[in-house]
Amino acid sequence: KRLLEIKDLEKIYNQAGQPTAALAGISFDVLEGEFLGIMGPSGSGKSTLLNCIATIIKPTTGQIYLDKENISDFSRNSLADFRGQRMGYLFQAFELLDNLTARENIMLPLSIHGQSQSQQQEKVEAIARYFEVDDILDQFPTQLSGGQKQRVAAARSLIMDPSLILADEPTGALDSRSAKTLMEKLKGMNENQQRTILMVTHDANAASYCSRILFIQDGVIFHELRRKTQESKQ
Ligand code: ADP
Ligand code: ADP
Repeated sequence: KRLLEIKDLEKIYNQAGQPTAALAGISFDVLEGEFLGIMGPSGSGKSTLLNCIATIIKPTTGQIYLDKENISDFSRNSLADFRGQRMGYLFQAFELLDNLTARENIMLPLSIHGQSQSQQQEKVEAIARYFEVDDILDQFPTQLSGGQKQRVAAARSLIMDPSLILADEPTGALDSRSAKTLMEKLKGMNENQQRTILMVTHDANAASYCSRILFIQDGVIFHELRRKTQESKQ
């Protein structure tokens, strides 16, 4: 089943009076349950693409369908609600709130969408156990290692059961061991819970967990790599 459809997406930036295409008519589909990697040199349009899908920036032309719904021309009001519930984000720099505990950071999306206190606690405990951060839930981000912070951020990105996880260089600030732990957890979520993940990465080790990789250059796809293991599933 097709979860995401990117159709003829174009993003033109005005750079010192010169129109520059960051995305030059890119099209692809993401199937439910895929772990899709996006790779490409710096400046090839990866962040622009991810930010368009995240509805953080508007494409110049083209459409983005999530579950057949065109999200590229959503009004600003419907966006905030929509983002938190249907997409989870994971960033290179963790983006945790330093004045909240790990538990409060993970609960943040839940508190925004009002679920009962006991429901929330159970859900937080379960996902924290999965990401092996259940023993540090009452600590603050500054007390945690990079790997722990990213696993807290991963727990937060999944707490609302979003249909799509967007990850921008999630291993970029991690040592190789923490990166491996994170990737194994994400892969587990992908395989056992059918979470669809779209990940931009420069990290070949991280990319090796993907079921398919799109290589982007100058705002278009120039190569695609599909892993055999995925084919039997589709
Ligand atoms: P990547 O994530 O692959 O490094 P980006 O999407 O950040 O690529 O950038 C693609 C191109 O668009 C680059 O040429 C970059 O300089 C340009 N670009 C990105 N954001 C902006 C912006 N806000 N204003 C102008 N140009 C931009
Ligand atoms: P990355 O390579 O990690 O995607 P970049 O250095 O390309 O990061 O971009 C960092 C930020 O700067 C992004 O938000 C991007 O939109 C913005 N940006 C990139 N190039 C330009 C540019 N030429 N003019 C204005 N903003 C830009």
